[in-house]
This record gives sequence, C-alpha cells and structure tokens, in this order.
Amino acid sequence: HAKAQGRRQVRRFDAQLDAAAEQRLQLERELRRAIERGEFELAFQPQVRLPGQEVVAVEALLRWRHPERGLLLPNAFIHAAEECGLIREIGDWVLQRALRTLAAWHAAGLDQRIAINVSPRQLAQPGFFARLRTLIVETGAPIGRVEIEITETLAMQGSDAVLEGLRELRCEGISVAIDDFGTGYSNLARLRKLPVDRVKLDRSLIQDVTHSAEARTLIHSVIALINGLGFEAVAEGVEEAAQKDVLRAIGCGAVQGYAIARPMDEPALLAWLAAFDPDGARATA
Ligand code: C2E
Ligand code: MG
Ligand code: MG
Ligand code: MG
Repeated sequence: HAKAQGRRQVRRFDAQLDAAAEQRLQLERELRRAIERGEFELAFQPQVRLPGQEVVAVEALLRWRHPERGLLLPNAFIHAAEECGLIREIGDWVLQRALRTLAAWHAAGLDQRIAINVSPRQLAQPGFFARLRTLIVETGAPIGRVEIEITETLAMQGSDAVLEGLRELRCEGISVAIDDFGTGYSNLARLRKLPVDRVKLDRSLIQDVTHSAEARTLIHSVIALINGLGFEAVAEGVEEAAQKDVLRAIGCGAVQGYAIARPMDEPALLAWLAAFDPDGARATA
C-alpha cells in the first residue's frame, strides 16, 4: 500500500516537472520569437544626485511587450533567458537600443548618461568588451556618458580577465556601477580594489530606514564605507520623500526610486527631464 502511494507521488511529481519544463520551453520559444519580432522595449528611470538638483544617470530597464500577456517585467523572463543563454542576444539588443538612444539624445543636445544592466553571462562572453566598443563607435554614443551596471556577485567572483576588462573600460571613460549591493556576499578586501565608480544599494537595505534605528545604523555604516573607498553610493528603491531625507543626512550620494520617478517610456522621460531642468532641456527643443 505504502509502495503504491509512493509510486503515485512520484508520478505526480514527474507530471509537475514535465509541466514546468514544458512552460520553460514555451517561454524559450517565445523569447526567441520576441527577438525576431522586436517585442522588447526599454523603460528609463532617472537617478538624482542629492540634494536633488542634478540627474546623474538614467537607467535603461528592459520590458517585453508580449502579444498575449501584455507588458512583462524582467522578473518574468530574465532568469529563463539567462538559463537558456538567450540573455546574450537580448543583452545585445539592450546595448544597441540604449546606445542608439544615448547617441540621439546627444545629437539633440541632451547631455545625459545612460546606465545599462549587463548580465554576468553576457559579460563573461569572450567578445563582450570588443562588442561594446564596436557598438559605441557604430552608434556614435558619447563614451563618457555610458555606464554599465554589474551585479555584486559578478563584481566579487568575476575572473581577473573580467576585472581587467572593466578597468580598461573605465580608462576609456565608461563608468561602472555595482548593482543590488547588499544582497550577495561581499569580500571587503576585494571591494576596495574593484574598478567601479558607483555602488547601488539594494532596496532591501533602504526599506526600513525611516522606522528602524538598526536599519539606519546599517545603511549609515555601508554608505560611510562606500564613500570612504571613494565610490559614490546610490540608493535604489527610494519610495518615500522621508527616506530620501534620511539618506541625504547620512551622506548618500544619489537616489533612484518611485519617490523621484517611476520607470517611463522615452517620451515620458523626456517630458520629465524637461520639467526637472528647463534649462537643460531647452537645447533639445
Ligand atoms: P535593477 O537593475 O536593480 O533595477 C531596479 C528595479 O527596481 C527595476 O525593476 C525598477 O523598476 C525597480 N524600482 C525602481 N524604483 C523602485 C521603487 O521605488 N520601489 C520598488 N519597489 N521598485 C523600484 P525592473 O525594471 O522590474 O527590473 C528588475 C531587474 O531586472 C533589474 O533590477 C535588473 O536586475 C534586471 N534588468 C532590467 N533590465 C535589464 C537588462 O536590460 N538586462 C539585464 N541583464 N537585466 C535587466
Ligand atoms: Mg540595475
Ligand atoms: Mg539594482
Ligand atoms: Mg535591485
């Protein structure tokens, strides 16, 4: 009896696995089609340097306009794209689109920096750095206004070749940011030597700063560490004005989040920038 029950459970488990695998395959097929049919878009979210007079960068965030399921956020597909390797092609599309956008802004006199998320798998490709340079030249994007965001894990575990590649990019004027800092395991001895400009503190570190003294102590120390090492601290996921005030008081360099602006499509971003800095936007009129 117990044996029969066990077999039934195994069968049920197999069926679940099959369903999950089938779903994954379906997603993979759809991702491939999405690349061919141009279903990806970029949303843009500004980062503002405190006390809040200056836009430091605009982060490009991937969106998928799925024909049946509507607008999808990266959480719904980035992991699958990483697993099946399609992240390389999708990442390449993001690079092209973001750099083309940056070039167009500069041609119109809008002097902004674009921050581009690069996945570990994409960056570990042997040709990645060469490809980035080629695209910068081809699109005419100003190299000094290109920023790439790499994950904390990649920053900590990346090979010497990857770190050397990043170092060279920085010499050429590209800036590098560590994304989602505080969610992985950081080697503090290594942090000191990383070729980066900015460190983005994950939203989970920011969330409780207004109502928890411990959360404030923690973020205060982390920001002091980042500033002390000569990097700029950028807080992510700042949803309330009160959080921004606390962050400013403890030395945080810049903020990004709904309290400043949500991710927007390009026309909405341009309107937001024009309202934020009427003088800066005049050149684009
Ligand atoms: P991320 O790079 O840390 O980007 C910040 C995420 O936080 C974005 O989510 C943004 O919409 C969200 N966010 C911004 N402000 C707030 C806020 O005040 N509150 C809350 N709750 N969330 C806020 P999104 O666009 O869904 O992207 C999620 C992640 O997907 C990104 O996290 C990034 O890791 C990844 N991603 C996005 N675009 C790309 C891409 O082009 N390539 C790669 N490899 N990854 C990407
Ligand atoms: Mg990012
Ligand atoms: Mg982040
Ligand atoms: Mg994050």
